[in-house]
Amino acid sequence: MQYWKKLTNSEIKEKVNKALAQNVDYHERSILGIPASHLDENVFNMDPAYLNNAPFLKTMVDNPNHIGCHTMGESEPFFAGTQKLEKELIGIVAEDILLCEPEQYDGYVASGGTEANIQAIWIYRNIFKKKFHARYDEICLLCSEDSHYSMPKAGNLLNLDLEYVTVTDDAREITPENVAEAIHSAKRKGKKYFIVVANMMTTMFGSVDCIETYTRALTDAGVEFRIHVDGAYGGFVYPFSTDNEEMTFRNPHVSSVTLDAHKMVQAPFGTGIFIARKGLIDNVFTNEAQYVSGLDATLIGSRSGANAIAVWMILQTYGPHDWFEKIHILNYRTNWLCNQLKELKVDFYRHPSSNIVAIRARHISKELAHKYGLVPDSHNHHPQWYKIVLMEHVHVDHLMPFVEELREKL
Ligand SMILES: *Cc1c(COP(=O)(O)O)cnc(C)c1O
Repeated sequence: MQYWKKLTNSEIKEKVNKALAQNVDYHERSILGIPASHLDENVFNMDPAYLNNAPFLKTMVDNPNHIGCHTMGESEPFFAGTQKLEKELIGIVAEDILLCEPEQYDGYVASGGTEANIQAIWIYRNIFKKKFHARYDEICLLCSEDSHYSMPKAGNLLNLDLEYVTVTDDAREITPENVAEAIHSAKRKGKKYFIVVANMMTTMFGSVDCIETYTRALTDAGVEFRIHVDGAYGGFVYPFSTDNEEMTFRNPHVSSVTLDAHKMVQAPFGTGIFIARKGLIDNVFTNEAQYVSGLDATLIGSRSGANAIAVWMILQTYGPHDWFEKIHILNYRTNWLCNQLKELKVDFYRHPSSNIVAIRARHISKELAHKYGLVPDSHNHHPQWYKIVLMEHVHVDHLMPFVEELREKL
């Protein structure tokens, strides 16, 4: 562990306060040039007695702007203190969780998984354009049909076609045949360059794509490709519930990863995390961003530094061992639920490292789904599956009445 170590509340408070003290203080200094300030004092409580024990709220009120990417070059000096903590957060995620070599990465706290995925696809589109003089209609997005809808969104924005790989109905797996078929179909449409998005736990099923299935088929097809891992849901789960390092930076084929802290980490919304191997992000530098010190290599522009501080605080509060335990408790609850379903002979899908259980819709009435807040795979068509996500607040005591009712209905 390079960066990640459990800290006490007072250590966390002290580090955040020190970081805030290194940011510009609009009360103490005359800052005439930036179109920003602390939050409006007429509206928000600025009472020090109230804020001094709440480092996240204090950061919110101070309102630092983390515009740009702080693992590279210069950044805005006005908010250097908290930007340094964001850099530390990116270090925890890149080195300690995703096993990247020290300092061999760039990254930032994005608005969410959607932005982080688009950021990745934007980078590879530009690399293919720059390095191979590829036309947009020669580049293709390749991902499984269980992928998040941010991929078609990215395709639409970046003017790229998308080819889906069919997954098996029971195991939710991409197969060598299905990947080969998708590549073949794309090649027939003139595609030569492939941006692959591999899932580290899909939103609906928690299923995990085998990267080697992609790399083999793409190598066999003799095409150029880059691989992005979408761990928006699974980024803070899967690395702790498996020994498999295929989805980490130990795998030379993995170029970038998305994680969302606003899902399993229970951080405020606006805390997607984007990590890429060092230098790749340079392909989306906006040179016209001249008023930003160090320019801007992110999609978002201005963004709240408080978001980065919130994620940093959560990870520091747990430390790697408590986080590992937390994920394993959730896994234990998932096992409990799966055993009950097996006993009831209810069909379901669950990846062994995951805390999501997708139940075949034929076992579940609309009323039962509504009562327990189960989420269907489709709100428009007849649902095929309903999912249960074993979050922190989902205890076995909450699952028991659901299982009982399911037993009675069957
Ligand atoms: C949630 C999710 C996203 C999108 O994340 P947002 O934070 O909602 O933008 C992308 N991919 C997967 C797998 C997700 O679960």
